[in-house]
Amino acid sequence: MQTFVTRDEISHWRKQLSQDQKSLGFVPTMGALHAGHLSLVKKASKENDIVLVSIFVNPKQFNQQADLQSYPRMLEADIALLSALSNVVIFAPNEAEMYPSGLAFEPMQLGEIGTVLEGAKRPGHFDGVVHVVHHLFALIAPDRAYFGEKDFQQLAVIRKLNAHYQFGIEIVACPTKRDPDGLAMSSRNLRLSAQERNKALSIFKALTFIKENAGKEPIETMRHRAILIIEEAGLLLDYFEIVDPHTLKTCADWQAEQLCCVAAFCGEVRLIDNMLCESVKLP
Ligand code: AMP
Repeated sequence: MQTFVTRDEISHWRKQLSQDQKSLGFVPTMGALHAGHLSLVKKASKENDIVLVSIFVNPKQFNQQADLQSYPRMLEADIALLSALSNVVIFAPNEAEMYPSGLAFEPMQLGEIGTVLEGAKRPGHFDGVVHVVHHLFALIAPDRAYFGEKDFQQLAVIRKLNAHYQFGIEIVACPTKRDPDGLAMSSRNLRLSAQERNKALSIFKALTFIKENAGKEPIETMRHRAILIIEEAGLLLDYFEIVDPHTLKTCADWQAEQLCCVAAFCGEVRLIDNMLCESVKLP
C-alpha cells in the first residue's frame, strides 16, 4: 500500500497525477477506520481514478486534552483495511509535516454556523478543522472531497471554507453508516464498554422517535420526550436541537424538513449523531 508521510512526496505525486490526467478523490480522516469511513472511500474510489485517504489526528480540533490523548490510533490496522482497495493511497503525516512552521494560513470567520451546536459546545473546534482542511486541500488539490453527514455541521463548515478560499473542489456528502441496531459508527465507539454501547443506542432511539412523530405534537413537547429517552438511559446530554438543515437555526415550529442534532456523553465518551426528519402529514 502506497503510504506517503511528507508534503514533498505528496506534491511530487500530485504533479504526476495531473500530467497523467487522472482524477483525484480525497477522504480526510483521523484514522481508526470503520465501515463508515470505508463507505466514503468506496464512493470516492468509484467516482475517481485515484483516491487519497489522509490519516491525521488533528490536535488543533480537540478542545479537551484528555479527548485528544485517548483518541484511538491504529495506523497498521487502517492500512490493512484500505489495502483491499486497489486505487487508494494513504497520506499519514506527523504534526511537523501537517503544520510546518512558516506555512501561511489566514483564518476565516465562520459566522453563525460556527457558533451553534458543536461550535457552541466545543470552542475552537471548527477553527481547528478549517486549519487542517485548508492545508490538506491546498496541498492535495483534489477534484472531489468526501465528507460524512454524520458530522453534518462540519459539512456546512467545509462548504463555506471551500468557497471562502476558492478551492473549487467538489464537496460530496455521504450518508451516515450505522451498526445494524442503529448506533452511528464512530471511532469513539471503540472506547465504549458493552454496557455503555447499549445505553448509547438511546441516541438513535430518540432521533427515530422524532423522525416517526415529527409534526404530531408541538415541537418543544416532542423535543422534551426525546431528551427523556436519552437521559433515562443514563447519558449526560450536551444538546438536543431540532434545527433547519440549511441554516442550522433552531426551529420554533415544525417545518417540512428539520434536522435533529444530538451530542451526549456516554461515560467518558462524547458521541454525536443527527437525523433528517420530514414532518408527518396529518389528515
Ligand atoms: P473522522 O475520522 O471521525 O474525522 O471522520 C472522517 C470522515 O468520515 C468525516 O467526513 C466523517 O463525517 C466521516 N464519518 C465518520 N463516521 C461516519 C459514519 N458513521 N458514516 C458516514 N461517514 C462517517
